[in-house]
Amino acid sequence: MAQLPKDKLPTEKNISSSSSTEEAANFVPPHIFRQVVEQSALAISITDAHASILYANPAFQRTSGYELHEILGHNESLLSYRVTPKLVYETMWAQIKRQRPWNGLLVNKRKDGSRYLAELTISPVVDEQGNTTHYLGMHRDVTEVHRLERQVQNQKTLIESVVDVAQVAIVLLDEQERVLLDNQEYKKLIGDLGKEPATRLLAAMRTQMGKAFDLAQSKHHNIAAREVCVELTNRAARWFSCAISWFEEQDVGADAFYEPSRRHYLLLTIQDISELKRQQEAIRINSLRALLSEQERIQGLRETLAGAVYQLEGPLNMLAAVSNMLERRREPGSELPAATALEEAIQKSHEAVETLRACIPDQTSETMQSVNLNDILSDMLKLCTASLLGAGIVVEWQPQPNSEAVLGHPAQLSNLFKQLIANAVEAINEQRGPRRELRIACVTRPDCMEVFIEDSGPGISDELRFKVFQPFFTTKSATQQHLGLGLAMAQDVVARHGGTIDIDPDFRSGCRVRVQLPRATGDSHV
Ligand code: FAD
Repeated sequence: MAQLPKDKLPTEKNISSSSSTEEAANFVPPHIFRQVVEQSALAISITDAHASILYANPAFQRTSGYELHEILGHNESLLSYRVTPKLVYETMWAQIKRQRPWNGLLVNKRKDGSRYLAELTISPVVDEQGNTTHYLGMHRDVTEVHRLERQVQNQKTLIESVVDVAQVAIVLLDEQERVLLDNQEYKKLIGDLGKEPATRLLAAMRTQMGKAFDLAQSKHHNIAAREVCVELTNRAARWFSCAISWFEEQDVGADAFYEPSRRHYLLLTIQDISELKRQQEAIRINSLRALLSEQERIQGLRETLAGAVYQLEGPLNMLAAVSNMLERRREPGSELPAATALEEAIQKSHEAVETLRACIPDQTSETMQSVNLNDILSDMLKLCTASLLGAGIVVEWQPQPNSEAVLGHPAQLSNLFKQLIANAVEAINEQRGPRRELRIACVTRPDCMEVFIEDSGPGISDELRFKVFQPFFTTKSATQQHLGLGLAMAQDVVARHGGTIDIDPDFRSGCRVRVQLPRATGDSHV
């Protein structure tokens, strides 16, 4: 290659800041320009002002498949496949006629008839008088680039339509948890839960999983389906099964070309399982109802037999007293056949009472376990819903947030609170006043869990406050089928759990029963 003489080479001295491109061109010998064009990888052509080809470089010949002699003197339209809209050419010509470069895409046809997409730039060449004398055309085959772009676009459209028709809500979030993509089901959730469901559900998952969530997030580990509950004001809570998966994308920015960096995206899939949960809950409550009614039946039998034993023991004791009296009055050595017969009758009666006592069924054995009183109380309220609604009773239920567990027998505790709620409902019905209120609260104390059951019934007088816990004590008439064992049974259950039950003497607008049960984590007596 020819070298410029040393004095013609550009130096700091001979390049002034005002040097024009023309001056700069003087530093390059004219034949270099020709070589640049000849050896360029771009298809370059030079035409006259009417687009007749005057020159085409080897790359042009390779791209179009024409030999030079086949195209010289021909219009560039030789390459047109005739599907490019007329408007494109009109715009192109309007632009270059105004001596402005034009850039665009044309569908070209090679000599062999095959088509290619040409990305063409046309630059007008203007003489010293300001006339366009020539056009410089530079194009490259971008068919493959276009094919890949279209393929990506098609795949994106396909994925979007599949995601859109999916029956689960799907949402894609960036690392700042901003929504990038969502589907129709997710949009429905926005209508139901308000903006932004993903933020709400992720917060619920974080609370539920604690550190495990942060760990999975930092390591981009997938999280399998988790059931999450969303509380809604004035509406039933909704349940969702949420799963998280991550995918990473290479940064497509120019900065990341040689230093690849990855971006992580969070894909959250959400399935509404509220209906399933409702069904499961209904089944659970029904089984609980069946279990408690079986226990009630056994308890009823226990009460009836215990009552019968109690009732028989009274007269028997009297007979025993009479027999003792007769024995004391008997002359020594004399026989008193009636006394002997009485003695025998008493003996037989004792045996009958013992047989009856042996028939009293045992309390059903149940393993001691960690029990959440909030859950038990809300279950019992659910079981009593029909009777509460039927009696028009207003219920105020105050569960203890993050309540501590107690160690106990779930069925016995369930029966205990069911009994206390039933007593309260009965007392409210008895009062028939305008206030028909039942208030239940669960409170965590330093060493125990405390449950209050308050009703707006007639209340219990001071003199009866302790008596009501005695077996067979009842304020109800015999016709009301009350044995007076309900509170005795309640006290028995509470005592077996190492707790206490009492009636608040200071509560005057009805009855307030207070149950204290030792906490499982504390010094349990159970
Ligand atoms: P034409 O009848 O030639 O033109 C269609 C419309 O273009 C007309 O209605 C008119 O509005 C406008 N037009 C055409 N010629 C002129 C003109 N001389 N002055 C003003 N307006 C005009 N075309 C390709 O298809 N592929 C190429 O690779 C290609 N490369 C080109 C490179 C250069 C440097 C130049 C200057 C043009 C190039 N062209 C190319 C455009 C080509 O010259 C034709 O204009 C085009 O192919 C349309 O041809 P046609 O016979 O279908 O319609």
